[in-house]
Amino acid sequence: MQTQNRLKIALQKKGRLSQDCAALLKQCGVKINWNEQRLIAYSENLPIEILRVRDDDIPGLIFDGVVDLGIIGENVLEEEELGRLAAGETIAYKKLRQLDFGGCRLSLAIDRDQTYNGVQTLANQRIATSYPNLLRRYMQQQGVPFKNCLLNGSVEVAPSAGLAAAICDLVSSGATLEANGLKEVEVIYRSKACLIQRAEPLDTEKQALVDRLLTRIQGVQQASESKYIMLHAPKDKLTQITALLPGVENPTILPLASDSTKVAMHVVSQENLFWETMEQLKAIGASSILVLPIEKMME
Ligand code: ATP
Ligand code: MG
Repeated sequence: MQTQNRLKIALQKKGRLSQDCAALLKQCGVKINWNEQRLIAYSENLPIEILRVRDDDIPGLIFDGVVDLGIIGENVLEEEELGRLAAGETIAYKKLRQLDFGGCRLSLAIDRDQTYNGVQTLANQRIATSYPNLLRRYMQQQGVPFKNCLLNGSVEVAPSAGLAAAICDLVSSGATLEANGLKEVEVIYRSKACLIQRAEPLDTEKQALVDRLLTRIQGVQQASESKYIMLHAPKDKLTQITALLPGVENPTILPLASDSTKVAMHVVSQENLFWETMEQLKAIGASSILVLPIEKMME
């Protein structure tokens, strides 16, 4: 494996995305020698190197073609993109896939005791945020003028410290807002992590590796959303039972050794099976219903 031809992937070194990124690579069969101190980590089994950086740097590394792939929150990606566009730069990259982690929302929040009558309430007020470009775009769309207060951290203390009337910050559970006496009044952007690739074409070998990785990622994500369902069904109720199973067209039907009135039915369902559906299945005559997780899938 030539060092210069390794696929370079930028990941967050330490933070909310790092563990999920490492877990995803592991599930995709990419073995990495992680060393807490090192900024570059190498894969043992594939020509891949991981650059471990602050998440804010990942969009720029992709836009500038310094790395081949990156995993980043859509919020940070779009903020950086808007910033560069506003500065008159042209940017290009490929968004390969949204991932199923890093979910959060960018919201406006105000003092819990303040009345709120729509976003107009914030007209000409100062709003503290680390996402000035996403905030500006939203407020422009709403036609509400405001004053920007850029803070790179501790945004939620801005109202109580008298720095701003409102904040625009990332929220997942809302517990941080509540702990700071704030209430969420408007969701302005919903985000998940995503996989991005630099715009400039990769050589054939690297692109083939990216395609393989992408197929594996799809397999991991599809598997986590799917279930393997097994049950025994009366032969005369197969149509009714199939109709109750979510996203199933072609179940596998197998004979039972000791009961000719029933068959075993095996299906892969794109959705989980809820207790209510299991109860309905049982009421029609299904029995021995098992719902199993799927680890990997390839179609
Ligand atoms: P870095 O040191 O790499 O700059 P950071 O402090 O900017 O890290 P984190 O707090 O680790 O960033 O968050 C990284 C990303 O995780 C966010 O940009 C967002 O996409 C996602 N995320 C998911 N849930 C949350 C949340 N509750 N609060 C903040 N970010 C979240
Ligand atoms: Mg950051």
